[in-house]
Amino acid sequence: MDCDVAVIGGGIHGVGVAQAAAAAGYSVVLLEQYATLAQGTSSRSSKLIHGGLRYLENFDFALVAECLRERHYLLQNAPSIVKLKPVYIPVYKHSKRPAWMIRAGLSLYALLGGLKKEARFSRVKDINIPELALLNKAELRTVYRYYEAQTDDSMLTVAVMRSAQDMGAELKLGCEVQSIVIQEHGCEIQYQSNNSVEQLSAASVVNAAGPWAHRVQTLITPTQQNVEIDLVQGTHIILPFELGENIYYIESPIDGRPVFVMPWYGDTMVGTTELVFDDDPASTKPTGKEIEYLLETFYTYFPAIKNKNLPTCESFSGLRVLPRSAENANKRSRETIYLCDRESKPRMVSIFGGKLTAYRATAEIALNKIKESLPLRSAIAETRNINLFG
Ligand SMILES: Cc1cc2nc3c(=O)[nH]c(=O)nc-3n(C[C@H](O)[C@H](O)[C@H](O)COP(=O)(O)OP(=O)(O)OC[C@H]3O[C@@H](n4cnc5c(N)ncnc54)[C@H](O)[C@@H]3O)c2cc1C
Repeated sequence: MDCDVAVIGGGIHGVGVAQAAAAAGYSVVLLEQYATLAQGTSSRSSKLIHGGLRYLENFDFALVAECLRERHYLLQNAPSIVKLKPVYIPVYKHSKRPAWMIRAGLSLYALLGGLKKEARFSRVKDINIPELALLNKAELRTVYRYYEAQTDDSMLTVAVMRSAQDMGAELKLGCEVQSIVIQEHGCEIQYQSNNSVEQLSAASVVNAAGPWAHRVQTLITPTQQNVEIDLVQGTHIILPFELGENIYYIESPIDGRPVFVMPWYGDTMVGTTELVFDDDPASTKPTGKEIEYLLETFYTYFPAIKNKNLPTCESFSGLRVLPRSAENANKRSRETIYLCDRESKPRMVSIFGGKLTAYRATAEIALNKIKESLPLRSAIAETRNINLFG
């Protein structure tokens, strides 16, 4: 065998699995099709290490508790990459979510977060504070403040991979997996690197190919069951204007969906949208309608900035992997799906969905699924305590 664990995909889940496997003492090789890490969804997210406040609307309490726990670890272990920021939620006369609902949600959120400082909230007593100076005050009823953490998703992905490499994991960039053959005692992977086709044998394989995971699942012999998923595109725009170091959690006046306004390297990032996508994941790109939707939402809440006629300096989109359903993307379950090649002693597991915030927990679950087919090794670290540097 060339390695114990082969990982397909250099996004946050792939590097998370590489880190977890290396920490557990296994030899690891990660294969990424592009020349750098985080070229897929893991550089196109909202960049929030969030407690998942809005999942409370779907009664996903376990998911919120997991996100809050993982956020706590990241704040401890990666202080240079994950930073706590105040989030302001303005409540207007016409808001879809009234003040009592926001208050109830934030109270539950604080409880699920063990009442830690980072999970607490308050009502802003004076709406004339400088942080709210540019906010539309017409029919504003009240404003709540709570906390979320912000990160640079690509930087976090690189930092997690670096920690995996420090524990012996090997990274192979520019290597596109083309086939996986599952045998009784291991797997044979064939991948394209530059102009040649290479082979790798591994005791087990983790498919962490994000929006490509469904496609990678079809490359396996013997043929495997696949999951019914939708790819849902989410777009962000970046405006060349600094609103300070605060985040604003607003409701789109068009359809009531939650939208975040966030600081981003001296500019302001606004997102996101939801658009079912059925093309090649590599071809995702913002549509004119999505950009219009985000601009209209932003200027409804920050009308004074509209007069500045800001150009949209950048926009980008990423793809969520969600279980197929007729429901709005916003209402669908955000549970991560794990698919194994067999129930007992699986040699391969595929990850569908997941969250930047909970990557560590997701990686540990995926690794646990294949542990029985791996040789005995001695752990060298606990992922919960590994420091990450930007
Ligand atoms: C718009 C949007 C906003 C989001 N915001 C947040 C947020 O604020 N907070 C949060 O916690 N989560 C957020 N998420 C979710 C989070 O970003 C994703 O769950 C996460 O980034 C997915 O990571 P991944 O590793 O599964 O996929 P990816 O990052 O897409 O990585 C998959 C990798 O696999 C590689 N690959 C594919 N096929 C092959 C192959 N055959 N061979 C080799 N390599 C291959 C790809 O090149 C890619 O690098 C958001 C998602 C979206 C879409």
